[in-house]
Amino acid sequence: MEKSKSAPSPNSPRKTENAWGRGLKCGYGYTVHENASLLDRTTFRLPARAATLIDVHEFDAVPGLLAEAAQQNRDVLILGGGSNVLFTRDWPGVVLALRTRGLDIIEQHVADRVDDAALVRAAAGEIWDDFVHWTLAHGLCGLENLALIPGSVGAAPIQNIGAYGVEVGEFVDAVHAYDRSAGANVRLDHAACAFAYRDSLFKREGGRYLITAVDFLLPRERALRLDYDGVREELAAMGAGTPDARAVAHAISRVRTRKLPDPSTTGNAGSFFKNPVVSPGLAAALKREYPRLPLWPLPDGAIKLSAAWLIDACGFKGLRDGDAGVSGQHALVLVNYGGASGAQVWALAQRIQRTVLARFGVALEPEPLVV
Ligand SMILES: Cc1cc2nc3c(=O)[nH]c(=O)nc-3n(C[C@H](O)[C@H](O)[C@H](O)COP(=O)(O)OP(=O)(O)OC[C@H]3O[C@@H](n4cnc5c(N)ncnc54)[C@H](O)[C@@H]3O)c2cc1C
Repeated sequence: MEKSKSAPSPNSPRKTENAWGRGLKCGYGYTVHENASLLDRTTFRLPARAATLIDVHEFDAVPGLLAEAAQQNRDVLILGGGSNVLFTRDWPGVVLALRTRGLDIIEQHVADRVDDAALVRAAAGEIWDDFVHWTLAHGLCGLENLALIPGSVGAAPIQNIGAYGVEVGEFVDAVHAYDRSAGANVRLDHAACAFAYRDSLFKREGGRYLITAVDFLLPRERALRLDYDGVREELAAMGAGTPDARAVAHAISRVRTRKLPDPSTTGNAGSFFKNPVVSPGLAAALKREYPRLPLWPLPDGAIKLSAAWLIDACGFKGLRDGDAGVSGQHALVLVNYGGASGAQVWALAQRIQRTVLARFGVALEPEPLVV
């Protein structure tokens, strides 16, 4: 077993005294902030506040904190890196921000399932992109196409993050979570996670599972996936003749940096809408009327449409309404130019939904959690 940082122990709750209910600012494994700004806690950088924000550094503190919140009859929201949340108002309850750390290779060779793969465990609070580079530095591949996605490891399974032809669910062996309904730690294997396009058991169960750690099964070698939007071109521009997984991660990071607005300068949550999935009949009718509309057939016969194309066709790309807007770089990305409120961003999102529905008969579903 290899250890690089403190080992996460997702299923070993320790009895901890919870001092938060007695008005203290910190206790074992957590720190409390009352009436806290969430502006720097989300990539939209909107001016919302949480009545109570608790940074959790040790998973063992979680059951006690949840019990205390329940006793105080206060709603709890889980926050990772805040890159997929839109706060349209203040949060009157408790925000638990997961900051737990730990990366381990828990099994070096899992040859019975995948030729020469390793089983890796990452704590929920690890930063996703740092984790991707850690796996690559350890000679493991699979996650290279998901480089530079903001956020935490714990949130990655929630919407089954995907980019450049890869979804994280492919590599998730199991998810360790605290089941708030049962009040117990659980281990959900790959099948139980029910991964789908930008979806999973965790998203469908809306807040029931607090993910504490994720196990990944990562091969040491695999065919690289390069057939997506300019990846080969970027590798060629980098002079990477025979690319490896690290070069792919680097190339994709370069493409993403060019294509997407940087949340550190322009607040955003990446793609604001999911690509809609429609019936073959509706897709065919739209294609007859709009021959340039991209269609992606799915294995079950349904058709995925490009939400960016639909939004662009309605003239929203680059539109600015006060300090809320649609990025000029990418029609799927709603942005905060600095002074927008969450309600303004949400009003613009709803306007886009209404317009696309009226023109194409297609409902757009938001990707982030809208609070
Ligand atoms: C510039 C930019 C580019 C992006 N590109 C992509 C992309 O290519 N592909 C993609 O799929 N996404 C993309 N995203 C969206 C986002 O980065 C991912 O969804 C990411 O996984 C969110 O992680 P987070 O830690 O920030 O989650 P948060 O925003 O903090 O939370 C998201 C949801 O997960 C829940 N949650 C968070 N942590 C936990 C936990 N430990 N246990 C239980 N629930 C939890 C929250 O309650 C919330 O419902 C992008 C975002 C930005 C800003």
